[in-house]
Amino acid sequence: MSNVSHTRKMNNLRSLLASKPQKEVLRLYLYQRHDNLFKQAILVTFYRKWSERPPYGLTEIGITTYDRQQVNSGFPCPPGPHAEDLLAHVWSIHLRLRSNAHLPSTDASPCAFHFGSSVFVTHSEAAQLLHQVWHQPIDAMDLSKGDRPIICLSYGDNDALGRVRTGDVDFTPNKIATTIAVLNAQDIAIQARITSSKSATIDYILPIFKITPYHVSNAGNAATYITVLAFLSVLRDEIYGAESNPRAKPGRWGISSTKPAQNVMQWLMERPTPAPPFGVTTYCSRCSSFVHSAWECPNTDFVCTKCSASQAKWRQENAATHMEGLCVFR
Ligand SMILES: [Zn+2]
Ligand SMILES: [Zn+2]
Repeated sequence: MSNVSHTRKMNNLRSLLASKPQKEVLRLYLYQRHDNLFKQAILVTFYRKWSERPPYGLTEIGITTYDRQQVNSGFPCPPGPHAEDLLAHVWSIHLRLRSNAHLPSTDASPCAFHFGSSVFVTHSEAAQLLHQVWHQPIDAMDLSKGDRPIICLSYGDNDALGRVRTGDVDFTPNKIATTIAVLNAQDIAIQARITSSKSATIDYILPIFKITPYHVSNAGNAATYITVLAFLSVLRDEIYGAESNPRAKPGRWGISSTKPAQNVMQWLMERPTPAPPFGVTTYCSRCSSFVHSAWECPNTDFVCTKCSASQAKWRQENAATHMEGLCVFR
């Protein structure tokens, strides 16, 4: 649903934002009062992870959403010592693609989502959810007013990978009409002078803010950490600025001096979070049961004979993680 004037406003907003540095776009969104369409925007962090081996299946999607209209009725407010008054409104979602859940991972990170519950979904459920996130009506009672604008935040070349490895869930944020800006938190950290490294990883940047990240390779944690580091980067003057710290060096100066950043992260991990209203939270990637997880699977004799007979050593090693019917190799 959309109309000509709404489409024109969205296009105007998109070209206006394209002319500004990414740091400025996020700062304007978080910290300015707006009376136009921009105030309706939703910030969505989007991070995908693929298996490291063929067939490079999509294994996880991390999403966070932030709606500034829900924070102080949309009016700018102090962010709190480590932006927690804003971060409290970030909703974190971690999707695991059921059919690829048995593909090997470098560590236990797919199981270690710290900011909510992971849900196991089919490819079409994942696609539907992304569609819903990107199509939220301005007025649910009057759909002719069109959808809310989306600012998409990602990290590094995660998007570029998606272009190479399409076929799974074909989803390209900058091709969707509601997307008014695509931001890269890695670039934002450079523009905000947090680091000068063009290849800084998430685990490299967070300790600059005195935050110790856990299981960054979990796509859900990654999405949350990306959101946190982008907020702290663009709000550095408000958070760390002080007479004794005129260049607003991150750490514990200014309003941030009242508590450690790690306490805020701990609180974000411990607070109760609603599970997404779809998918299942319990799924066994070995036998496809919905009543137990792979850790508790009683079917320990299930081995994929296709993988155990494979020439590839990593497939032989992974043969006991799934029954033959779930094998992604045909
Ligand atoms: Zn099982
Ligand atoms: Zn197999």
